[in-house]
Amino acid sequence: MTDAIVMGGGVAGLAAATALSSLGLEVKLFEAKPFLGGRATSYPAPGLAGETPEIDNCQHILLKCCVNLRDLYRRLGVAGEVEFHREFYFIEPGGRMSKLARGVLPAPLHFTESFLSATYLSLPEKALLGRALAALYWQRKRRRDLDSISMLSWLEGQGQTPRLIQRFWRQVLVSAINVELDEMAAAHGFQVLWLGFLASADSYEMGVPRVPLGQLYAAASVRVKVQAKAAVEAFDAQRGVCVRGQWHAARAYVSALPAERLARLLPGLPVDFAAFTPSPITGIHLWFDRAVTDLPHGTLLDRTIHWFYNKEQGRYLTLVVSAADVLLDKSRQEVIDLALAELREFLPEVGRAKLLKAHVVKETRATFRARPGLEAKRPGAVTPVGNLFLAGDWTRSGWPATMEGAVRSGYLAAEAVSGFLGRPAHFLLPDIA
Ligand SMILES: Cc1cc2nc3c(=O)[nH]c(=O)nc-3n(C[C@H](O)[C@H](O)[C@H](O)COP(=O)(O)OP(=O)(O)OC[C@H]3O[C@@H](n4cnc5c(N)ncnc54)[C@H](O)[C@@H]3O)c2cc1C
Repeated sequence: MTDAIVMGGGVAGLAAATALSSLGLEVKLFEAKPFLGGRATSYPAPGLAGETPEIDNCQHILLKCCVNLRDLYRRLGVAGEVEFHREFYFIEPGGRMSKLARGVLPAPLHFTESFLSATYLSLPEKALLGRALAALYWQRKRRRDLDSISMLSWLEGQGQTPRLIQRFWRQVLVSAINVELDEMAAAHGFQVLWLGFLASADSYEMGVPRVPLGQLYAAASVRVKVQAKAAVEAFDAQRGVCVRGQWHAARAYVSALPAERLARLLPGLPVDFAAFTPSPITGIHLWFDRAVTDLPHGTLLDRTIHWFYNKEQGRYLTLVVSAADVLLDKSRQEVIDLALAELREFLPEVGRAKLLKAHVVKETRATFRARPGLEAKRPGAVTPVGNLFLAGDWTRSGWPATMEGAVRSGYLAAEAVSGFLGRPAHFLLPDIA
């Protein structure tokens, strides 16, 4: 009999399946879509001159502190396909740019030179920011209420001004956690700042895949028996999973399905599914007739677009808007017009370039809203159904909804399954600090 069946071939399911197969267990994975990677995937899209390039669902990046995701990439043999960048570019409307990069001082002071030379913050704002970062450093282990207050209320309590919140805190944290600061549990904001920016001098480095996302995960098929276009229609602890009307049994099962799918499959599970409400991300792909920038990426201050990434020597940019509720009601053309109008303020060459093609992806269910109080409702890997275990970025991974959170949840589920099957193993790597 198959040792384990994994439902869902997103990052969480792939992490669970890869970890279990490394123990020599026979693992089958059922994925509803034709490709692996779930939300972090890529697919062929009509391109220029009749080509169909593989484009990412939306640009996905990681930070060097994502140790479990990097471990999964090593296991899949694709770690070399991620390029890490040491410089972040904060660009003001009008094009003035400040670089954030580590300097000569050790952590947690490694950004001192960058902040001192940054033009997008005034001197009093820099002093206020330094004070809040010091408070965060000291309060992170001491305060007990960080999961029950919002990040915004904590920032206001630290005397951060609206412009400083907008230009630094919002720019960094909303991109990472995908909810506005007034909805974000302070615990998540603290974690991102601590692990990504303060704990170590290189943990902030940003990893950008060199290949389409789908190619990172395709390697999993070598180790695991993957069945694509195979949606799980029903689950029964005795009979197993039902796919296209046929039952498949195993000794253990991992659901790595999104919360709303699991709620439909097993509505009786004691999980407060309604607590997991979705937050959108919009990705915008723009192809120009010429190079419009030579920067590898940049974050745009005071506007709707948060980030751009340079995909093909400045001729193809992908833009990301996190917590993109304001774009939900806009038409595709309105989104493109807004993106072009904003980009022209930061990258003047966009005004002279001709747009050859555009593609807009509105992911309405990109991540769950990491609100105060939600952490206690995220279920762990073990369920009351003895042979069923849970994974997925929405489960209790210790991280917000990210690829790192998804891998952590997959590894935790694999640990629980390995114990259940009498082959206890440890996969989860501890955070860097
Ligand atoms: C637009 C966007 C941008 C993002 N940017 C980033 C980023 O830059 N960095 C980052 O770390 N994270 C980012 N994220 C979040 C990240 O993509 C997710 O947290 C992570 O990929 C979730 O993985 P998962 O495996 O838990 O879920 P999913 O990726 O949702 O995987 C679930 C899988 O289950 C499959 N499935 C559903 N129903 C069935 C069924 N009945 N039977 C079988 N299979 C089924 C689905 O097709 C899917 O493949 C982004 C997300 C989005 C949407």
